[in-house]
Amino acid sequence: QERANLAARSPDNLRCPIVVIMGHVDTGKTKLLDKIRKTNVQEGEAGGITQQIGATFFEKKTLEAQTAKLNQTEQFDIKIPGMLVIDTPGHESFSNLRSRGSSLCDVAILVVDLMHGLEQQTIESLNMLRQKKVPFVVALNKVDRCYAWKTCKDTPIRDALKEQEAGTISEFRNRALDAKVQLQEQGVNSNLYWEMGDDDWSNSDFIPLVPTSAITGEGVQDVLMLLCQMAQRKIWKHIMWCANLEATVLEVKAIDGLGMTVDVLVVNGYLREGDKAVFCTLDGPIITEIRGLLTPPPSREMRVKSDYLHHKEVKGALGVKVIGNGLEKVMAGTPVMVVGPNDEEEDIKAEVMSDLTNLQSKLSTDRVGVLVQASTLGALEALLQFLREETQPPIPVSAIGIGTIHKRDVTKISIMNEKGHPEYATILAFDVDIEREAREHAQEMGVRIMTAEIIYHLFDQFTRFMDELTTKRREEATAIAVFPSIIKILPQHVFNQKDPIIVGVEVLEGILKVGTPLCVPALGGLHVGKVTSIESNGREQQTAKKGASVAIKITNESNPNITYGRQFDASHSLYSTLTRESINALKANFKDALENEDWRLVIKLKKVFNII
Ligand code: GDP
Repeated sequence: QERANLAARSPDNLRCPIVVIMGHVDTGKTKLLDKIRKTNVQEGEAGGITQQIGATFFEKKTLEAQTAKLNQTEQFDIKIPGMLVIDTPGHESFSNLRSRGSSLCDVAILVVDLMHGLEQQTIESLNMLRQKKVPFVVALNKVDRCYAWKTCKDTPIRDALKEQEAGTISEFRNRALDAKVQLQEQGVNSNLYWEMGDDDWSNSDFIPLVPTSAITGEGVQDVLMLLCQMAQRKIWKHIMWCANLEATVLEVKAIDGLGMTVDVLVVNGYLREGDKAVFCTLDGPIITEIRGLLTPPPSREMRVKSDYLHHKEVKGALGVKVIGNGLEKVMAGTPVMVVGPNDEEEDIKAEVMSDLTNLQSKLSTDRVGVLVQASTLGALEALLQFLREETQPPIPVSAIGIGTIHKRDVTKISIMNEKGHPEYATILAFDVDIEREAREHAQEMGVRIMTAEIIYHLFDQFTRFMDELTTKRREEATAIAVFPSIIKILPQHVFNQKDPIIVGVEVLEGILKVGTPLCVPALGGLHVGKVTSIESNGREQQTAKKGASVAIKITNESNPNITYGRQFDASHSLYSTLTRESINALKANFKDALENEDWRLVIKLKKVFNII
């Protein structure tokens, strides 16, 4: 049957390409989607545009109608049966969704605000699209904001440009050139699409630019036409329809009266009521019978909440809501498979789990590290890859999760506090919601939840937190850590015999540091006091190295009566008082501050103080 399916694949039998809209916030992605949905739906010809689950479907005849004016000159024959535009524009996690290892979306619109040029998320999206080899057009949106723009509602962009005054054209040209140069800086060659040469079109790295207005509709037809052209010219092999099921979970949602449902994008093949479907969860694969396949009703006016169209069978590409039992833990971004009559159930299960299994195999093996939570498996994968490759030192990850953060997730990672790694009692949350209960629990359990919509921001937050922690730990450790030293009192330089003792000393070995407790091992470990200042040639300093002669002040809070010349004198060397604890603190925080010779002194002093 497999062979029959493959044989059936043909350039004359294409499926709908899946389109996503990406770009920086506020560039007009949502408005553009709205406009594409509404533009030019011919009077009296309602339909042709259908709301699906998570996507909007444009029939071929609608695409033809919408691009008719342009096609008078372009003469482009639309062969795709339609187009499926994903409804959540700019959703970084969505653009990360994959299907059978490749990107779930086939073509993309990257929206740039003509007035602002390339912004950070634009660049991130750009890199993602290039990495995944998804062809895209760049919409230079808000062209209507060029000075004195004359609105030409819903017309092809070249027609609209013809209507503009020279000044407007000149501003437009300058801004478009800026965008082109900025794209060039990112290594992307581009041009206004009607100015591209034949060579440019055949060069897969060349990007067409389309000026648009998402408000008044100029250029929107051009975008649609370019998407159709790219689908048919660049990725036609990829979108030949295939009967083998290829489907990805978009979202898992509770719906009144239906319980937990799973929104699925069926890319290829069929899904049928009664199918034995396999889904991926963190706890392993689940098999459940498909009890219902739903799409929204055709007309918006008719739509009542929870009023759906039921289907016995659906054919890709489309977005559909699946009803079944036990779907609560299904993970967004994972594949959906069906057990056929000739399939081994175990094989299917393993395949459904393979992406997750693969991710889990890369987690920190000693189970010490943060919890990373993202909205979909694809987003999680991107985030983990980022943490592994782009962070220095890499942030260790001990656990992963998908979807809303619950109390149990907080409990899970709070274990890091008990394991002595409070810094990893942290959840890095990417584009997910947090239950109120989970937030409260985090407060109680000393768990930090860091959230961000952009991966870099999460990383920045965590790095800043780690830096603060290191500084704080150093400060704390400074109170405990003791630098090793042996000093000799210079008897002709005794300035004050008690409270405080002020004497001239020579550092015989190691490093003498302010704060160091001093004792005389030869006198049973007599505690002389703590060094409270070090002075050399009238200047205060924090440390004095081997060979230096300095004046020091020693105070002894527990025994202010200790006196030079009575309990001890210049015949006794003074030693830094080391303990097991102080040595540990020294090792953990001041490794670089000490030289080999100093560490040898630590070993010597360990013997003097009988530290095991
Ligand atoms: P998104 O964050 O990318 O989805 O951006 P929106 O679609 O929400 O648009 C952001 C703002 O830009 C809104 O105030 C829109 O009205 C405005 N806007 C979007 N497209 C255009 C356009 O083509 N022309 C003008 N003048 N404003 C636009």
